Amino acid sequence: KLIKEESIRRSLFNQVQELKGNIRVMCRVRPVFNSSEGAAANLTFPDVDKESKELEVLGKEEKSSLGNVTRKPHAFSFDRVFGPEARNQEVFEEISQLVQSALDGYNVCIFCYGQTGSGKTHTMSSADGMIPRATHQIYETATNLKEKGWTYVMEGSFVEVYNEEIHDLLGSAKDFREKKHEIRHDDQRKQTTVTGLSKVALDSPGAVESILKQADSNRSVAATQSNARSSRSHSVFILKLVGHNSTTGEMSEGTLNLVDLAGSERLKSSGAEGDRMKETQNINKSLSCLGDVIGALGQNKEGGHIPYRNSKLTYLLQYSLGGNSKTLMFVMASPLEVHLTETLTSLKFATKVHNTHIGTARRTKSQA
Ligand code: ADP
Ligand code: MG
Repeated sequence: KLIKEESIRRSLFNQVQELKGNIRVMCRVRPVFNSSEGAAANLTFPDVDKESKELEVLGKEEKSSLGNVTRKPHAFSFDRVFGPEARNQEVFEEISQLVQSALDGYNVCIFCYGQTGSGKTHTMSSADGMIPRATHQIYETATNLKEKGWTYVMEGSFVEVYNEEIHDLLGSAKDFREKKHEIRHDDQRKQTTVTGLSKVALDSPGAVESILKQADSNRSVAATQSNARSSRSHSVFILKLVGHNSTTGEMSEGTLNLVDLAGSERLKSSGAEGDRMKETQNINKSLSCLGDVIGALGQNKEGGHIPYRNSKLTYLLQYSLGGNSKTLMFVMASPLEVHLTETLTSLKFATKVHNTHIGTARRTKSQA
């Protein structure tokens, strides 16, 4: 009887979750490319063919008191787990509805979290990743919605948050290096703007490809200054969608944010000097601030303080994280034994996020 009650409670809980704007978490494990990368860790997925939600990871070897060598199993459960064989196409299918909801006036935020080399950029910002796939789908849907009287203005921006400063990935090389930008919030419309930022009209299916190229060219210039800059900065692709229906007079205003976070590997300030040390402290600070914001949202106190202002990233995403928005995090996992400790740390962080339930998503759609 208890088991039955528990299962009813669970299923009710799941339905409520559907309605709430809680944070969804999916895990993706990248493939091992070749043996020179080192040994594979022991990761298992119970339902390789089916839509798996579970992942088990065997920890580092430990000697028991009897002298046996054992590995402690760690079980994880997320909204979905993608194994090494999964393609970006399959990953996109899981998020396509969420992406679509930005056209309905929701603020949507999708993150990739994980250590450097775990597959964040491959998933998010590559030519085959979520950014071009999401943009193409939105363009196509908006075109189809014309029949129903909707016209959309679609604008893309692409920023890098590096050392607590915002850089315009779509600006000229000089602007990218030198121009200063500020974050401004419109608390009534629950919308955010960044001053002086380039905006590219997404008025043709190919527009997103030129955005990605421009961003890559700015990044490669920056790479000569600081080798690993792209793994030490966050990049945020911002797609603003303002719709108007000439038949019904409805308006809608939604934003899709696609975020490729800085590498989550623990960085130690000791030993690092000057610029490197500042960089390290800023990454640690902004990632832990993201965790704090999610934690504070989870406490669900009406009107409670959420520390968005503690980092540029969370301040930028203030209206796309939390009660009125839809959030999804991909936790990226490396399949290698050498990365095992970091992988477990990432999966534990993701579990905390997964257990966070926040308020109801609300869309900005109004009768004019
Ligand atoms: P990160 O951005 O987390 O540092 P990358 O996305 O750059 O990691 O991934 C590291 C390397 O692995 C890149 O060469 C990338 O193309 C490749 N890679 C990552 N994930 C996959 C995957 N699922 N399938 C094929 N190649 C991948
Ligand atoms: Mg990367």
